[in-house]
Amino acid sequence: MNPAAIDALFEEQTAAWPDLARGVESLERARRREFEIRGARVVAVHIPHRVASTTAPVDPGAIRRRPCFLCPENRPDAQSGIGFGEHFIVLANPFPILERHVTLVHSEHAPQRITGPASSGVGAMLQAARALPGYVVIYNGPRSGASAPDHLHFQAGRARGLPLVEAARDAVVGLLPDPWRSVLVVGGDDPVGVEEKFRRLMSRLAARFPDADEPRVNVIAAFADGRWTLLLFPRARHRPAAFVEGRLTWSPGAIDMAGLVVLPVAGDLEKLTADDIESVYGEVSLPIDAARKIVGQGGSA
Ligand SMILES: [Zn+2]
Repeated sequence: MNPAAIDALFEEQTAAWPDLARGVESLERARRREFEIRGARVVAVHIPHRVASTTAPVDPGAIRRRPCFLCPENRPDAQSGIGFGEHFIVLANPFPILERHVTLVHSEHAPQRITGPASSGVGAMLQAARALPGYVVIYNGPRSGASAPDHLHFQAGRARGLPLVEAARDAVVGLLPDPWRSVLVVGGDDPVGVEEKFRRLMSRLAARFPDADEPRVNVIAAFADGRWTLLLFPRARHRPAAFVEGRLTWSPGAIDMAGLVVLPVAGDLEKLTADDIESVYGEVSLPIDAARKIVGQGGSA
């Protein structure tokens, strides 16, 4: 897998599969609004084709009842992919948020876990990031935005347009300064060391949330200039009150946490205010004081 192979996949798949061609075209037309709030840049984008994913029921009962759209027998006939590593197939996402948006789907129907074996957990993310310079590789935890929490998968797409990824590139390892979001940064030129530091943070989070299979997290991996960067967003909740009460159809996953607010419903883009952005980020993030304790007193991961 490399960027040229993904370019070729999109060329072949947009010709063979009208749903993908429509999704790519709709993303190109998507309207955006820029916000600059307390030194942080946030971009909101209206993408109607995200509505099913944003509003998908994620309770275990609903997940058990629906056919898994990542299992081979339920995928569209026109969809074909390329291999990555021993376990993954890379498929074009017909409902893109990013340019060249792909899903890296594990061969087994097994739960979404980032702390799984190196070949399928965060280690696989780091390998994928290495293979795709200029891209981000994304993980949404099973209770933090994954629309298939029962089938292990990552996403990837071009990094361009994700405000926080641009801001974090030269960040010191530790807690990223941010007005509302808890963002833990792990970086380095040795993937084994980066994975160890990440697993240490995850086990400290797991100690804080002992009842959960996995703490609520979103993770973004990127590789540039010989160096990996992992952004870890510890979450307090998945959906904000504004979503639950029907005021704003915004259900943040990793891409939203990185500063790209995905709004599938007409009118929400015009209606969105800086106050909404501040309150939603504050509500769904683990409080910054708690994140500081996870990182450690010295502030280093
Ligand atoms: Zn499945």
